[in-house]
Amino acid sequence: MKALPPLAIAAALLGLQPSGAARANTVVIAPPAPAAEASVVLAGHLIAEPGEPALGAHTLVIREGRLARVQPGLDANIEPGARVIDLSDAYVLPGLIDAHMHLAIDSDVDPVTLASPARTALATAAYAQRLLRAGVTTVRDVGDNSGVTYAVRDAIDSGALQGPRILAAGRIISRSGGHGAKRASAAEIAYAPAACDGVESCRRAVRENIEAGADWIKLTVSGSGREAGGQPQAAPNMFEDEVLAAVAAARQAGRPVAAHAHSTAAINLALRSGVRTIEHGTYFDEESVALFKQQRAYLVPTAFVANYVASKLSMFAGGRDGRGSDDLRSWTEAAKAGPGRAWRAGVPLALGTDGGPSFEPTATAQEIGLYVQSGVPLAQAVRAATAGNADALGLGAETGRVRVGYRADLIAVAGDPQGDAAHLQRMRMVMKQGRLACLRDCTEASAGSPAGQPSK
Ligand SMILES: [Zn+2]
Repeated sequence: MKALPPLAIAAALLGLQPSGAARANTVVIAPPAPAAEASVVLAGHLIAEPGEPALGAHTLVIREGRLARVQPGLDANIEPGARVIDLSDAYVLPGLIDAHMHLAIDSDVDPVTLASPARTALATAAYAQRLLRAGVTTVRDVGDNSGVTYAVRDAIDSGALQGPRILAAGRIISRSGGHGAKRASAAEIAYAPAACDGVESCRRAVRENIEAGADWIKLTVSGSGREAGGQPQAAPNMFEDEVLAAVAAARQAGRPVAAHAHSTAAINLALRSGVRTIEHGTYFDEESVALFKQQRAYLVPTAFVANYVASKLSMFAGGRDGRGSDDLRSWTEAAKAGPGRAWRAGVPLALGTDGGPSFEPTATAQEIGLYVQSGVPLAQAVRAATAGNADALGLGAETGRVRVGYRADLIAVAGDPQGDAAHLQRMRMVMKQGRLACLRDCTEASAGSPAGQPSK
């Protein structure tokens, strides 16, 4: 008896089988291309190095998931027998990377799903597929409640599921009662963080996460932006020896650390302690700027989630340790201004949304638009979402650029995305590691509106 291929099983489990022409936004899982099959992409315009102007027509040859040739001009016969993907009327660039998401935290789901790791894993897998079709080929997941992100990551890596490449931090590491370890109100998401209270338990929390499969370590060094603990002058909510112990234990195992920090003192403590990225980083000051440069650390400002909170101020104001409406508005404004302020100061800029299944999969593209609103030149915002993020995540020699030897993580859009960011909200083609995720029919029929609560 012929066994069902894993993709068919996964698709059936997820309810993703096409069920007739009526479902315009039906998602179909393409079978994995044989690794040996070569593809040729005819690119009308090529953004090989994001941040620099688009080049003219190029032909890309992809073998075994990587770019084997990148050659000026269009030549459909360059690789006999290869599948030719004609994008001669489109702009081709590296796939988007989101450096701050929570794929397995969905504040909108019913209590049954919330309590079930199996249901959460399936919802996460379904969302991962939508993200890929929105052009996001790599995601750093900075924390979940359940550990399911590892399973989804591994299923995607094995080819059983379609989705972005995931770098997973697993459990958020927080002190007892710190951000991620309590509910500000009954309505807030419940987390299950690893406790970090003193040097020994901080080391243990890091080591347990690594043993479970963490690619990154996520620490929360200040309160949420919505809390008093996230105000500009707030003291860090971890001690220096705790942060240092966590960073040292991570470094011993070769794992970089991402630190959630809003207040100035928390940002600077995390930077001095050797973290690779600062998440949110709302109230960075001149000392922070010097530390970012000295430590070669990156800022991930997450303007998308600040913009979302700003649209629902009355819903997010107050609550346990919460900030009042005016104070909360001052946070959303500072957070939305963050990318431009960082860019002008020369802080290495990454890009992440704090998004997840509660939001549209185009959040990453929207974040690029918010960077521009805050004063970042569009080409530099596109760079942050591709090459900048690749560098920040330690993947700068693998993805984020179109170069021979790099992974074939590619997207195509109708117009120049470094001229109009809106093009990034409609994918014409998405390819991850040489495997086509969608061609022409990438965009969902209706994106739906964001709802629910973000984690920060
Ligand atoms: Zn987050």
